[in-house]
Amino acid sequence: MDVRLPHIVVVGGGTAGWMTAAALARFCLPGGKVTLVESDEIGTVGVGEATIPAIQQFNQALEIDEAEFVAATGGTYKLGIAFQGWGKPDEGYVHAFGQVGRGIGLLPFHHYWLRGRALGYAKPFGHYLFNTVVLAGNRFAHVTRADGNPLPPLPYAFHFDASLYARFLRSYAEERGVVRLEGRITGVERHGESGDIAAVLLADGTRVAGNLFVDCSGFRGLLIEQELQAGYEDWTHWLPCDRAVAVPCSSVQPVTPYTMATARKVGWQWRIPLQHRIGNGRVFSSEFLSEDEAASELLRNLDGKPAAEPRTLRFTTGKRRKAFVRNVVAIGLSSGFIEPLESTSIHLIQTGINRLLELLPGGPVSDRARDDFNARFDREIESIRDFVILHYHANQRVGEPFWDMVRAMQLPDSLQHRIELFRATGNVAPSLDELFDQRGWVQVLIGQNIMPERWHPLANQVEEARLAEFFDLTEGAYIQEAARMPDHGQFVAHFAPMKTMM
Ligand code: FAD
Repeated sequence: MDVRLPHIVVVGGGTAGWMTAAALARFCLPGGKVTLVESDEIGTVGVGEATIPAIQQFNQALEIDEAEFVAATGGTYKLGIAFQGWGKPDEGYVHAFGQVGRGIGLLPFHHYWLRGRALGYAKPFGHYLFNTVVLAGNRFAHVTRADGNPLPPLPYAFHFDASLYARFLRSYAEERGVVRLEGRITGVERHGESGDIAAVLLADGTRVAGNLFVDCSGFRGLLIEQELQAGYEDWTHWLPCDRAVAVPCSSVQPVTPYTMATARKVGWQWRIPLQHRIGNGRVFSSEFLSEDEAASELLRNLDGKPAAEPRTLRFTTGKRRKAFVRNVVAIGLSSGFIEPLESTSIHLIQTGINRLLELLPGGPVSDRARDDFNARFDREIESIRDFVILHYHANQRVGEPFWDMVRAMQLPDSLQHRIELFRATGNVAPSLDELFDQRGWVQVLIGQNIMPERWHPLANQVEEARLAEFFDLTEGAYIQEAARMPDHGQFVAHFAPMKTMM
């Protein structure tokens, strides 16, 4: 077996570049060679502060200590996303991580809930989600369950400062042998015969040769698009927001353990609490709202004092037609972008890194391996795309032109099918490799008032009295346990306080 490790050149030092470099440092060094090129002059996108629980696997694989990581990045804990105004303008719901309800029979919980609701026993769905109950009280604790404990665990993700996270990973990677070069790439050298990239050329004349190049250069796609012209599939007709204005503001109490996503007349606003500030942003469509209007609306809707000037970011939702071309793998924004509504971009970086690591060590990458990488990336990002479109489409904000448009738009067949299946049967049937499983889909569908025409008939097997008692017991047990947990802000201040408050 060929166990050679190639010289890998990572182009770009944003979240994607440093996550990739850190993972390569952990798994390919010593033995291989990893060089990262970044340009301070160009800078990074500098946003990307909310994550999903899978990031814990990345940290654990890199043997990163959680308290050290949270302290270094001004981090807080995230138990889910609170959506306000996405169904009816005055209604809200939570997409929480983790288990939905508790087991009472063979079926997923929501079938029993649908029956309980029809019989008048069941409260709104979120009352039976442990994470939702805990976050509603602004509580947090690490929950470990002994075998046999019927209560669910409390899965969590993090909010963190994107630039501090890149700094943290940079130290990690450099300590383990990654070589960092500062400079602007102004040219590319190709191998005559294969057309592969041979080297990138910096403005000061430095030539950086390598066998495999990871394009983490952000939206511009320096190698994957500008050099190799992979092409871009534009999804603006499904996800029409193409701008974001971001501004941090001072912290306020309580430090909430969730991301807030509030629908506005055009698009939505995010609120991400960190230890030292709150990250805020307004995602919108430039067809319906100007950048100036979006910025002033955002400034009017902050909880604390603005801590910087608002910054506008422009994007086109979609994906690279191929994320792996010749000897270039695109990871991060260079491979595609779906707006941050479900905090999925950093996760896509993580899964891109996983797929890359599967191919190392080895000799030259075969066409079949490249095709497999691309097919898996496509499936993953298309399923996330459908999930995010659902939030827009399933709105009841009648009379607001932006929302009327997204409610009426033609959906991807895959999403249309899923909504119809849910309406007809109460099932969602995601495949095993989809990021969001039935629990996530069901919370958003029900949260935005798409109700199935019936529940599964097997849900009728549970006696009515037992069903009513089950709802009460479940909610009561969750409330009791949540009440014993510390306040989230106090937990963070004790467990992983930020060293230097900025
Ligand atoms: P960038 O940060 O743009 O980094 C590009 C790097 O390439 C930089 O170091 C730059 O200097 C370098 N570079 C480029 N050209 C050259 C050159 N010619 N020579 C040398 N170096 C070069 N994700 C989440 O998971 N959660 C969120 O909450 C979230 N919120 C977001 C909000 C918005 C508005 C946006 C736009 C994105 C958000 N994301 C979020 C996505 C997240 O920010 C990105 O996935 C993440 O930051 C990765 O970016 P990147 O490293 O690919 O690109």
